[in-house]
Amino acid sequence: MSQAAAPAQSSPWRATVATLFPEMFPGPLGVSLAGDALKQGIWALDTIAIRDFGIGRHRTVDDTPAGGGAGMVMRADVVNAALDSATALNGDSPLLYMSPRGEPLTQGIARELAEGPGVVILAGRFEGIDERVIAHRRLREISIGDYVLSGGELAAMVLIDSVVRLLPGVIGKSESLAEESFEAGLLEYPHYTRPRDWEGLPIPDVLLSGDHAKIAAWRRTQAEQLTRIRRPDLWARHPAKKA
Ligand code: SAM
Repeated sequence: MSQAAAPAQSSPWRATVATLFPEMFPGPLGVSLAGDALKQGIWALDTIAIRDFGIGRHRTVDDTPAGGGAGMVMRADVVNAALDSATALNGDSPLLYMSPRGEPLTQGIARELAEGPGVVILAGRFEGIDERVIAHRRLREISIGDYVLSGGELAAMVLIDSVVRLLPGVIGKSESLAEESFEAGLLEYPHYTRPRDWEGLPIPDVLLSGDHAKIAAWRRTQAEQLTRIRRPDLWARHPAKKA
């Protein structure tokens, strides 16, 4: 099933998601920046309904875990057939499996994926998928954080959103991307807007000074302080720490 808008260019960045719940898409990806870009054909979205590849009259997709234990596991043969269908639509893109035990999603991974043709994403459910399909298809496992979701669909949306906003033409001013959190290995500095005084809290004077060099220096210091306090792991890797 395809939910892609008619592409405005020959080959938009393409996300193909294999899921038991295709009706969850585009969901939040259909509004605002990502939604506008989808309508403009900057990127395209397909969903593959894993249930279509289920076994028998009941289209069974899961079975009990070998060795016993709680829950159900998605069958390798069913998932593999769904991935065949996904790669028929999106053959040149990396195959990802959203998984809490995967490598943590970072801005670096989002940037790397934005430079490629797209992604094929497997969204798991139940206890997860049969390990053999992960090995057989060499799925790259990606986690969106150290917590467990009910399924991979929300995780897939998070990953897709993080990539789509980096595609050329999605965000108007490219400077706003360059200064965002993680782009330079730092968290972003604080923002302010009108009113000038709110609840007795003024905007810092330097931001109203019109002195662009001073403003840039202040923002830099703020970004470094925030990163040092809130994310010592990022700060430890940052060149400014050694300066
Ligand atoms: N039994 C698995 C475990 O303990 O690692 C959790 C399975 S979870 C209930 C079902 C599916 O949700 C997973 O197969 C995966 O696709 C998705 N999922 C859950 N947490 C995730 C996370 N933090 N990042 C990415 N995907 C996640």
